[in-house]
Amino acid sequence: MATTDNRLVANGNDNLSAEVKTTTCYMCACRCGIRVHLRDGAIRYIDGNPEHPINKGVICAKGASGIMKQTSPARLTQPLRRRAGAERGAGEFEPISWDEAFRILEERLAKIRTTDPKKFALFTGRDQMQALTGLFARQFGTPNYAAHGGFCSVNMAAGMIYTIGGSFWEFGGPDLERAKLFVMLGTAEDHHSNPLKIAISKFKRAGGRFVSVNPVRTGYSAIADEWVPIRPGTDGAFLMALTCELISQGLYDRDFVARYTNGGQLVIVDPKSPRFGLLAVDEDADPVNPLYPQNQLWWDRHSNGPVITHTPNTDPNLFGDFTLTDGTRVQPAFQLLADRVRTHTPEWAESITGVPAATIRRLAHEMGITARDQKIELPIAWTDCWGNEHQTVTGNPVAFHAMRGLAAHSNGFQTVRSLAILMSLLGTIDRPGGFRHKAPFPRAIPPSAKTPTGPEGVQPNTPLAGLALGWPGSPEDLFVDEEGGPVRIDKAFSWEYPLSVHGLMHNVITNAWRADPYALDTLMIFMSNMAWNSTMNTVEVRKMLNDRVSGGETEGESEGETEGETRGEYKIPFLVVCDAFHSEMTAFADLVLPDTTYLERHDVMSMLDRPISEFDGPMDAVRVPVLPPTGECKPFQEVLIELGSRLKLPAFVDASGARKYVDYPDFIVRHETEPGSGIGFLAGWRGADGEKSMLGEPNPGQWEMYAANNCIFKHEMPPSYRYMRNWNRGYMEWAQRVRLRRWGDPILIHLYSEVLQRFRLAAQGKWPGRRPPERLAKRVETYFDPLPFYYLPLEVQATDVEKYPLAAITQRPMAMYHSWDSQNAWLRQIHAHNYLFINPRTARAQAIEDGAWLWIESQWGRVRCMGRHSEAVEPGTVWTWNAIGKQSGAWALAPDANEARKGFLLNHLIADELPALDGRISNSDPITGQAGWYDVRVRIYPAGVEEEKSVFPIFPVLKAVPGMRSVPRKWLAYFAGKEIGE
Ligand code: SF4
Repeated sequence: MATTDNRLVANGNDNLSAEVKTTTCYMCACRCGIRVHLRDGAIRYIDGNPEHPINKGVICAKGASGIMKQTSPARLTQPLRRRAGAERGAGEFEPISWDEAFRILEERLAKIRTTDPKKFALFTGRDQMQALTGLFARQFGTPNYAAHGGFCSVNMAAGMIYTIGGSFWEFGGPDLERAKLFVMLGTAEDHHSNPLKIAISKFKRAGGRFVSVNPVRTGYSAIADEWVPIRPGTDGAFLMALTCELISQGLYDRDFVARYTNGGQLVIVDPKSPRFGLLAVDEDADPVNPLYPQNQLWWDRHSNGPVITHTPNTDPNLFGDFTLTDGTRVQPAFQLLADRVRTHTPEWAESITGVPAATIRRLAHEMGITARDQKIELPIAWTDCWGNEHQTVTGNPVAFHAMRGLAAHSNGFQTVRSLAILMSLLGTIDRPGGFRHKAPFPRAIPPSAKTPTGPEGVQPNTPLAGLALGWPGSPEDLFVDEEGGPVRIDKAFSWEYPLSVHGLMHNVITNAWRADPYALDTLMIFMSNMAWNSTMNTVEVRKMLNDRVSGGETEGESEGETEGETRGEYKIPFLVVCDAFHSEMTAFADLVLPDTTYLERHDVMSMLDRPISEFDGPMDAVRVPVLPPTGECKPFQEVLIELGSRLKLPAFVDASGARKYVDYPDFIVRHETEPGSGIGFLAGWRGADGEKSMLGEPNPGQWEMYAANNCIFKHEMPPSYRYMRNWNRGYMEWAQRVRLRRWGDPILIHLYSEVLQRFRLAAQGKWPGRRPPERLAKRVETYFDPLPFYYLPLEVQATDVEKYPLAAITQRPMAMYHSWDSQNAWLRQIHAHNYLFINPRTARAQAIEDGAWLWIESQWGRVRCMGRHSEAVEPGTVWTWNAIGKQSGAWALAPDANEARKGFLLNHLIADELPALDGRISNSDPITGQAGWYDVRVRIYPAGVEEEKSVFPIFPVLKAVPGMRSVPRKWLAYFAGKEIGE
């Protein structure tokens, strides 16, 4: 298969050939276009592609440093098998061939699939191939599949999507081209990197005002016009106080709330009604679509009586208390919201958040009058879903962006709901200058994708009877057994975490080790360091990976275990790790599969996956190889295609059972979601000659056409489809035609969540269907509140805050992405070790000098590290960079590298489970299962003068594995231009 757009550059030297190849960066997830400059086949440098619409030539430090990822000495270069008799984690491996690796996997997985497919689990990190990994898992028949979302920001996705049908980042974002006021909450500075930085730069140059709400003033906060320091985990209180103020001052967009949210819909408030808390409907009226009914009621201001929602020439009361003709008492949802926030005054929030009441009041006022008085009118005619024609699109130019700082708390779902509601009250959803969706969003609330609903959905030799990840709309959509117990290993979609739409990767190892709800046989991890920075309770989880069942009677032990006499004794019997680099995680593997880098493979960033569109239309992108694979590295996509073919998973073979696809590029071109659907992984250049887009037959020349077009496809929608998409008839009809949407019903914003109320009714024994087990009823009843509310994060509730008074959080540095880059010789010069940053007042109160060694201790453990005084952190918080600290020897760093001797990992202090009435429960949001990373409370004190000036805890030095290349050590030993030890 032809690959890249290679342009030879004449250089006047016959012996040298210079080339420029274009592809898509993957030093973070922003998909900027890059040009890779090569000479004699080797990379000389990487710069931004000026012709690429995302970054227009801009490149960041990470993107330019891709060359050092390519040449990292930590690269794995051949498949490896743990040596017979060697302990996991000891790093004792022997090279094997790919044939042997596939033989081992095929034999093992075939046996699992024919007996009990759920004994195979596939969990992946921050990859961009979830459409493929999800397809593979579903075809295999296992429910045990998810990517990193559950431990990253699922609260942000779920809290927003269950409220407005869209979310931030790849799903939607702030329209900074037209906004006047931009409010950013809890966003790491590596996040949404170049595109957001470019947008903020233009926004500020155009005179916009930028307010950042964050416990720490770094990155984006450092260039904000106003920094509002806030205590971690209290954003919900802050947002509710802003909402209280907007409503009490009448500064919300009344027309928007009435027409485009469910604020005017009547909620049954009679506690004796079996439908208490649900929306009143006219049962004689046509619901139009029973899945998303449209027969709810308003109380019409003109006729002073109930009418079907959106009846022409009616207008709902947003306040009041009414009685239907059958005697049922009802109130508009907006009245209930106003009642909820009435006592949540700025003074109430000040005591929780540390943000002065006057500041909250001022910000609410600024948001309200900016939205009201600086309206934008675009001359774009459009028609709403109820047939009303509009001559213009209106915008209220207040934009928000938020991410993990709000999400990674066990109260994050309700906090994010509060944010989505605030944005809605300001009338900013999918409007110019506010929040805008990216295709295929908005989705229905909730989206229609569902998991199976019981264990019968998992059958031998059969694809899973639904998706592994879905969007429950009621208790009937949960994935539970007859007793209400979980079917998935991570307990997602069970009563413990009913709306865990991205799974709970952070629970997998602990649950599998404990065989709760059952033991696994094979755990395959791709691109995730679950033995270090991607796990809570690091020290114990590492022991779990190495723990054995006494007597070798593990449930997962399989007959015919041939790959080493000791492997069956582990509680997680077989561990497969696919990664490009030798990390703390690969050291624990039984089988290591060497992945390629992003420069060595084909890749797609598909709309079937996490979307990557822009505001004005759908987009997708590809990577094409600019270099051959290193050693025997093989892209993980090729591994899945090969395994799918060998295991004869239906999507990968033809009717005769013969292999269907030559390789991954062939799969991408020819695979369709259903035979003849015309929908594949890529939307551009479809049809036999590439003349179609969005829909069309497979095009054998599709890769070449992408490569010739800067590796990106963009479909520009007409202006009338670009705004108000939740309620835009033209957009809905087009989106249905091109199969971006299944339904064309309007997507009203859920100020009041009937979905949550259904679960609450079930917990109260009032739901006609499923009910939670007794031990979880109170928990579900408490947290499934249909209106947003603020509560202390679960870990804080379980902490003696007198003893552990400080919040401890991490941030991710701009020069790195997630935890990917400590092996990068250039980037580690910027962050080779981390400090604990402490407000000087807090530090002095504990007699901790600037630069001194200190102990940071939670109720779960303690870490010794170095501290720095910083005014850029609020006094009740300490923080550090995430994932700079490494196990000695990891990623081929020298055993005494700064990352191992001075760098530390906060994860050692964070629990994966909390005490519960019946023993334990995940340290996660009780609604979505989002990991509560930022809920830990700590104390700090100076290290003794006699103590070693080195981090604690220390782990054994990780050994190099066969096939790791030797590169000049100087590459890794230089620090800020100076060789260490000089
Ligand atoms: S922002 Fe991300 S995708 Fe863009 S150049 Fe930087 S690392 Fe690459």
